[in-house]
Amino acid sequence: MAPNPPVNSHRHLITSAIPYINGIKHLGNLVGSQLPADLYARYMRARGHEVMFICATDEHGTPAELAAAKAGKPVAEYCAEMHEVQAEIARGFRLSFDHFGRSSSARNHALTQHFAGKLADNGLIEEVSEKQVYSIDDGRYLPDRYIEGTCPNCGYDRARGDQCENCTKQLDPTDLINPRSAISGSTRLEVRETKHLYLKQRSLRAKLEAWIDSKHDWPILTTSIAKKWLNDGEGLQDRGITRDLNWGVPVKRGDQPWPGMEGKVFYVWFDAPIEYIAGTAEWADAHGLPDSAWQRWWRTDMGADDVTYTQFMGKDNVPFHTLSFPATIMGSGEPWKLVDYIKSFNYLNYDGGQFSTSQGRGVFMDQALEVLPADYWRWWLLSHAPENADSEFTWENFQTAANKDLADVLGNFVSRITKFCRSKFGEAVPDGGTMGDSETALINDLTARIRTYEGFMEAMEIRKAAAELRAIWGLGNEYLQAAAPWTVFKTDPEQAAAQTRLALNLIRLYAVLSAPFIPDASASTLEALGTDDASWPDDVAAALTALPVGHAYTTPEVLFRKITDEEREDWQTRFSGIRS
Ligand SMILES: [Zn+2]
Repeated sequence: MAPNPPVNSHRHLITSAIPYINGIKHLGNLVGSQLPADLYARYMRARGHEVMFICATDEHGTPAELAAAKAGKPVAEYCAEMHEVQAEIARGFRLSFDHFGRSSSARNHALTQHFAGKLADNGLIEEVSEKQVYSIDDGRYLPDRYIEGTCPNCGYDRARGDQCENCTKQLDPTDLINPRSAISGSTRLEVRETKHLYLKQRSLRAKLEAWIDSKHDWPILTTSIAKKWLNDGEGLQDRGITRDLNWGVPVKRGDQPWPGMEGKVFYVWFDAPIEYIAGTAEWADAHGLPDSAWQRWWRTDMGADDVTYTQFMGKDNVPFHTLSFPATIMGSGEPWKLVDYIKSFNYLNYDGGQFSTSQGRGVFMDQALEVLPADYWRWWLLSHAPENADSEFTWENFQTAANKDLADVLGNFVSRITKFCRSKFGEAVPDGGTMGDSETALINDLTARIRTYEGFMEAMEIRKAAAELRAIWGLGNEYLQAAAPWTVFKTDPEQAAAQTRLALNLIRLYAVLSAPFIPDASASTLEALGTDDASWPDDVAAALTALPVGHAYTTPEVLFRKITDEEREDWQTRFSGIRS
């Protein structure tokens, strides 16, 4: 049974998991959050809903500090630059964020400190003293995975402080033989006592479980991961929300100092999801709007009661969004909006292995756009979204899908009919003839399929929606094949004119329906048709008369070119190694 998230509300808050700042993301990251979120946002806007679509860069934490050090830049400067790089690539993929924020913003600092203060007021924060490894030469505490040494279990000499990669044994940094800093290699390490704040998630466990149990329509992938963390082993654990780092949101209790916490910052996973809220506030700031403009999306006491909130993310992010972030929101005791629906994704693999940022394996977002325009990638990625299982990118499959679906089915239909009309009637919608049974049958088929397409889009069944859209494109070709206006024209030009008029209008209909998947092709098609009527076809028969008799158009350039075997082989070779 297809899930059936609520769509009766007319306001949709949509967030994509926020990409980490330390580099350009690969196509697996893109299809696991930002791209499907964009598809949904575009669809909801097209259906006339008010949409707030927020994404941001996730900028705090040790990896950002280390990436900045490697680049020889102060971390704030590095993050500002990388944010611009990611924003530019997002524009290249036509990701239609209402705002692309930054978790390092003043808004996020203030909100993160606010939530921590409220949690403390409600008795949900505990101060815990713990022992942590300090590197004298690095002048900093080291997170477990930045301590390396020899594994006591198998003797592997590059085991990390949290786990040995070789034998997979879970480790404590103090288990390692000859431990050293993974940052500098220094062995001058010592164990120091340091105090941290813990969020008492265990005391919110029953509330979280009841909330998750109430979400009957969530994907199994989402609820199964949440339940595992709630119940497996000792169940949900309290969680440290502060770190001994320089880069991050300084620990404060609201706007007041937090005695004993000087020089510490909140853990990146505490502040990152709060950026969804802060990013909406940044949006209001950027447009010179008052606080009420963003609060009506987030505060149920300020108008957010009728908002439907949907989050998109890869499965690795589910625990933080089903447990940690809701714990923050619930624990605040304030009427903040909780998520209504979580759409989570499995992994996209690359040509027989995994995409890997750390190893530079696969195709990265900037490289993809160097090879082909965004629509080709959007179509392949969305129509192969890893919804129910992991899926795999291969160049053969990519070539086949682009050539068949985009060039042969959609592109060919547009090209055939616009060129035929130009040669027989000129570049305007022709007059004459009447619609017959085959046209009525086409309209009925289109109506049935479009209603099905809408159902899949509303349910975020992305692969099924893509398949339905492909079938809708196919109906046009089947109609042309059967009607054969080029033959009819010889004996009955009036009838051929009626068929051509319908088919030209069908091109506009396709542009409207396809826009969430392939926005550039859709926009250029509408432009060639000389119309800005992108209204949704609630009444398909009426939509097929939107371009009236005599309406002028220009025959569009090739909508989608075919990918040649040479190109495919070339790209296969180019992307077979690791990114330098
Ligand atoms: Zn080992």
